[in-house]
Amino acid sequence: MTDFTQLHTDKLYINGQWQESQHGDLHPVINPATEEVLCQVVQGSSEDVDTAVAAARAAFKSWRNTSAEHRSAIMHAIADGMEARKEDLIQAVSQALGCPAHITKWLHVDGPIYAMRYYAARTSIMEKTEEAAHSLLIREPIGVCGFITPWNYPLHQFVGKVAPALATGCTMICKPSETTPLQDYVMADIIDSVGLAPGVFNLVPGAGPIVGAALSAHPDIDMVSFTGSTRAGVEVAKAAAPTVKRVTQELGGKSPLIITPDADLDKAVRWGCEDVFINSGQTCTALTRMLVPADKYEQAVAIAKQVAEEVALGTGSDAFMGPLSSARQRDIVRGYIDKGVAEGARLVTGGADTPAGFDKGYYVKPTVFADVNNDMTIAREEIFGPVTCLIPYRDLDEAIAIANDTEYGLSSGVWAKDTDSALPVVRRIEAGLCFVNGGEFNYDAPFGGYKRSGNGREFGEAGMDEFIEVKSVQLPG
Ligand code: NAD
Repeated sequence: MTDFTQLHTDKLYINGQWQESQHGDLHPVINPATEEVLCQVVQGSSEDVDTAVAAARAAFKSWRNTSAEHRSAIMHAIADGMEARKEDLIQAVSQALGCPAHITKWLHVDGPIYAMRYYAARTSIMEKTEEAAHSLLIREPIGVCGFITPWNYPLHQFVGKVAPALATGCTMICKPSETTPLQDYVMADIIDSVGLAPGVFNLVPGAGPIVGAALSAHPDIDMVSFTGSTRAGVEVAKAAAPTVKRVTQELGGKSPLIITPDADLDKAVRWGCEDVFINSGQTCTALTRMLVPADKYEQAVAIAKQVAEEVALGTGSDAFMGPLSSARQRDIVRGYIDKGVAEGARLVTGGADTPAGFDKGYYVKPTVFADVNNDMTIAREEIFGPVTCLIPYRDLDEAIAIANDTEYGLSSGVWAKDTDSALPVVRRIEAGLCFVNGGEFNYDAPFGGYKRSGNGREFGEAGMDEFIEVKSVQLPG
């Protein structure tokens, strides 16, 4: 087991050094499977943010002018460090989040290492110029960036911001979630060991309304990239507005999976349920509204019940689903389950009571609701737990109307006979992502939401654009 006391969790990482906070208290990080304290993590202050921003501003002067080769070499060294300390990264995420380690490896760690190398291979994009009539277009890094991340995919979100920022020549201050800050400490250790110039990367953990708010409002930060709830994302945008900084937001979702009449029902329902139950339902892209042809509805309900009841709970090597990330999150999810029952949905399996044998840990039963209509709270609000809702439809027009009847637009899925028959349905869904017949997440492709699921994109080359200013140089004729 990783010894978290070896990490400098009582310190901030500013200007290439581990430093004391000017005011900060300590905040416990709790293992949600055992309810034990893993370690204490310092909580930064707005003064600490000022110090970190000054360091990042000073470092930007030279980092922005480094060669693409230098930035690429540094980033490959970071990816090498991530490989070398993969077990530490797995444990840091797994133990604070509750996701079983064998799943954490491929779900939370392998992809971010790939993404670090993906951006390491693209630093030269900054040197490419384009012509537009008599103008020369030059790419420049936007500057000092503030990164605010949530707890549900903490390494994925860290790399989705830090890697393109490093690649483009930006400097940064990271604020992880209070619940899962440990992988950021492992990453700071790795970054510290590769010879990155002081001040390019800074880590200031702390409370959202203090450190997150200070980053959002800071006059010397040029860009804030936020991932989290729509509620906090709106707060960030409001705080950022007076300084006209760029804001990107990766927010919540309530995503539909349309299973078409000609689909393989068994495969589609199984995949759709596992998509919701993985990571204990704490996935922003989770396809939590399963839309099923009315004449196959009871069959789909029976399959979903079976899948849910087969889910192995725990954190061991045979477990599929761990606890929720915190007692608070467990209680929120249980509240939604109670609300679903109160509003008249049929509880097929699961429920708000404690799963047998799991008195310790913040576990919630994999839960399936049937007879859900799209107006119910459980169909409209993001539950962020292992709860799926099956909604019947009469024809594809109705399915698409239900799918789009949401304020969110992050993700979606279509399961059809084949890709050709799925694509016309895909085109009618209002969402930034669509998973067809079980297609997998792709770090080379842009990720982001329509509507109230966000602004901007992460990953892929589009993920670099968020960190770039384009200068138009008007040349004489
Ligand atoms: P959250 O909004 O409570 O917290 C996210 C981060 O914002 C944390 O670091 C928190 O400390 C900080 N924060 C909170 N209030 C703030 C404020 N007023 N100003 C600045 N920062 C503030 O979200 P969470 O509970 O940690 O994460 C779950 C949410 O994140 C879900 O809604 C989920 O859908 C969303 N999410 C979205 C994506 C995506 O890419 N679209 C990915 C993962 C999670």
